[in-house]
Amino acid sequence: MLTEKLLLHVLIVLAPILLLSFFFEKRPIGQSPYFTGMLHSLSAILCVVFAFYEGSLYWDLRYVPLVIAFLYGGRSAGGMVFGFIFVARTVVGGDALVFALSGIVLAAAVPYFYCSKFIELSPAKRVKNAMLMGVWPSFVQIMILFSYTFYYDGETNEEFAQSLSHVLIFGIIQVLAVGTAAKLYELVIERSLMKNEIERAEKLNTLGELAASIAHEVRNPLTVVKGFLQLMQRDDKADNHPYIPLVLSELGRAEVIISDYLNFAKPEFKKLERFSISQILSDVMLLLNALAVKQGVELVSDLKSEPFLFTDRNQLKQAFVNIIKNAIEATPSGGTVTVSLSVSGDQAVVTVADTGKGMTEEQLSRIGTLFYTTKDKGTGLGTTVSVRIIESMQGRVSFKSELGKGTEVTLHLPTVQND
Ligand code: ADP
Ligand code: MG
Repeated sequence: MLTEKLLLHVLIVLAPILLLSFFFEKRPIGQSPYFTGMLHSLSAILCVVFAFYEGSLYWDLRYVPLVIAFLYGGRSAGGMVFGFIFVARTVVGGDALVFALSGIVLAAAVPYFYCSKFIELSPAKRVKNAMLMGVWPSFVQIMILFSYTFYYDGETNEEFAQSLSHVLIFGIIQVLAVGTAAKLYELVIERSLMKNEIERAEKLNTLGELAASIAHEVRNPLTVVKGFLQLMQRDDKADNHPYIPLVLSELGRAEVIISDYLNFAKPEFKKLERFSISQILSDVMLLLNALAVKQGVELVSDLKSEPFLFTDRNQLKQAFVNIIKNAIEATPSGGTVTVSLSVSGDQAVVTVADTGKGMTEEQLSRIGTLFYTTKDKGTGLGTTVSVRIIESMQGRVSFKSELGKGTEVTLHLPTVQND
């Protein structure tokens, strides 16, 4: 009988959250604590009114809306539910009224003090902690049961045992109800966050396209300026303008940034062909060897196999250059950068491992995001461009790093048959 009643209450306490999910995205009512409080108060009152009466105690799930309202709606919502339960319970009356009222105060106290911390937790932790919060009212209920029996002593042992089993069933259902309610709440929150995220991504996408077209327009005048400066430099026999080389090198940098950005915005695969990936890696390492020697870094290659790819050769080269260059730049003199190539199933696996300074967890999580750099003259485009290129080739990139020990970048690329 108790179980049936409590299962009905589970429905009653979940109803406000389902209702709220219709309104959640409609500001201002959807997220107003008073609206939330109102809905939960209603379900709490229903719980009190339809309580299961036995052994001079009322059994119901009124604490679930109380806890949930405090945790997810804040103090004003929780306070409202508290007030309504208090009044409703007083109206119902009965000889255990004093115990019931003190139970309500005790049960509200913990979520009242805890709720400001609660909302800052991660969603998964929130559900767990909410369930723990659900244990507290059950505990209060047990205390009430004991003290009530102690004071009135009207119960036989048999009745007491039954009450105890009720507390157990009650406790389990209560914790489950709080858990389900919290999970439901999280789903509602997640859905609204996701909707905002999609809207933001759409805006960013438009902005990105705009930026790409501006970058494209800026490149043309830059080329013209560069051309004329080169002419001036050639005619400048007496070296009247010693700063021209500097201007030219900065212009070159601007050009690289713009073309990197354009490549990021839309990697263009001009010419698709079949080629050997080890050939490309050898080319790139030859190209970067000068930089490695300058830094005092040993560049080691370990090209075990000879897989073939079908894609744009130059784009792939660009991706490798960016990643290997980062590895060289991160490695102090005397260190090594090892580039290895192997095959796993129908995937070519390239790893670039360095013995450099490595990255912290935080840096590792930010790598690959646009404009993230820790270097003075860095652009924060290299990794992002590489990841974009590899992903457009249906490949994937993963980073592993340990601070002070080094970094390992692994690239997987789909291969094609030899012939
Ligand atoms: P940039 O090289 O212009 O700074 P990147 O996108 O190439 O931009 O790299 C972003 C950042 O990632 C670098 O500034 C660096 O802090 C970090 N990083 C990339 N590769 C490595 C590596 N192999 N070891 C340590 N840090 C790295
Ligand atoms: Mg770089």
